[in-house]
Amino acid sequence: GGIIGLQGTQDAAQMIHVGLLTLQHRGQESSGIAVEKEDGDFFNYHMSDGLVMGKYTPAILETLKGTSAIGHVRYPTTGIKSGLTDAQPFLFKCAHGSIAIALSGNIVNTEALRAKLAKEGSIFQHSSETELIVHLIAREKLPIENALKKALNKIEGGYGGIMLFKGKLIAFRDPYGIRPLVLGKIGKNFMVASETSAIEVLGGKYIRDVEPAEILVIEKGKLSSGFFTQPKKENNCIFEQVYFSRPDSIVRGFSVAEARMSMGRKLAQQMKDIKADIVMPVPDSGFFAALGFAKESGIPFEMGLVRNHYMGRSFIKSTQHMREVVAKLKLFPIGGIVKGKNIILIDDSIVRGTTAKKMINMLKEHGVKNIHFAVTSPPIIAPCFYGINTPSKSELIYCNMSHEQIVKEIGVTSLHLITIKNAADACGGISGCQGFCSACFTDKYPTKISKSTREAR
Ligand code: 5GP
Ligand code: SF4
Ligand code: MG
Repeated sequence: GGIIGLQGTQDAAQMIHVGLLTLQHRGQESSGIAVEKEDGDFFNYHMSDGLVMGKYTPAILETLKGTSAIGHVRYPTTGIKSGLTDAQPFLFKCAHGSIAIALSGNIVNTEALRAKLAKEGSIFQHSSETELIVHLIAREKLPIENALKKALNKIEGGYGGIMLFKGKLIAFRDPYGIRPLVLGKIGKNFMVASETSAIEVLGGKYIRDVEPAEILVIEKGKLSSGFFTQPKKENNCIFEQVYFSRPDSIVRGFSVAEARMSMGRKLAQQMKDIKADIVMPVPDSGFFAALGFAKESGIPFEMGLVRNHYMGRSFIKSTQHMREVVAKLKLFPIGGIVKGKNIILIDDSIVRGTTAKKMINMLKEHGVKNIHFAVTSPPIIAPCFYGINTPSKSELIYCNMSHEQIVKEIGVTSLHLITIKNAADACGGISGCQGFCSACFTDKYPTKISKSTREAR
């Protein structure tokens, strides 16, 4: 998911709205904006299912008065998977007062915590685990920052979070730094967001990443920082650079566009012996890698596939049948460009293998001679439990077939996946994979993953 929060401006809701449009790629299931009321007693808010565009009319934005606001776009990975049901921010009243909260990412020890709290009398309205944090806060008779610290020490996972509480905008990030969260400034006002692109579109300036295990409290234009626990060895999700983040965002001080180009260059080095007429991306996620590949190899860059931008991300559609239909609708070959050619085709990932298979079929129907398929992520062999939607092992093609079988299955002349080391190096990793989570390639997770969490997949 994606989150954004800011404070100190009359048009807070309008700014959050623009921020959510900018973060739309991080989640299309639902969205929401909450603005603290003048008296701090509750929130003006609006939630909507689906895309942000068109849902926050001027009349609606007019009702979202206030100077302290947060927003969220939801990308369902756990819980009820559709529509408005789990739209965030979640709004609560408890002994502390009114709280609005939104989370990007996932908590992994949900089952046990939820069961314990329910046994003790807690009532849950949502299937999303964000609600857990509020229950944990509500039980503590401490000042809100300390209550939050205690709550965060009970949960494990990969997340960035934001909260509104009595004139305070509070932001926090998991101890491993798995999900991103950045701090910026617009004029004299601080803001936080999942990605720098949302800050820059609003005319703001990126200051720094929120540190792993850090809690930021922003109040009346003043920023204070603390840590809820000892930060762990950094484990930034490498998929942010590979696929999830916008190319104009800066992750860990490093440009996503450059990381992707560099991945393309490294693939070109891995594939020195392959001869081809053209290099072409699977739009949009393969663009920068294909550009990097072309520059490194000297093979001309061409655009041989058209993407329909008015579709959601096919990955998110709920059934296999729908994913396949939408994949065909979404990408289409340009016959005149690909016919009779030996091509190097670049995409970001092979998950189930459905996208690749469909696309390669279509390209062949349009007369392509040979396809050498190059991919900017290593083989995905394990599900993500930290907020990226990778399915269980039973659906991951690299868990169920050998490389040679996959070459046959998707129908290419050759298939090349970037190595973990090359991917990490390209993303600005120091000495191999240090600093990055790569659990979906290694099956080694930075946090504990309980049996029940594993089996829930
Ligand atoms: P597959 O068809 O192999 O299951 O999925 C791979 C394709 O899905 C790639 O083209 C990738 O760009 C796209 N995709 C869309 N959303 C996601 C996501 O959340 N994670 C990953 N790994 N790929 C995604
Ligand atoms: Fe990112 Fe993979 Fe780690 Fe999930 S398991 S956080 S997708 S690197
Ligand atoms: Mg793609």
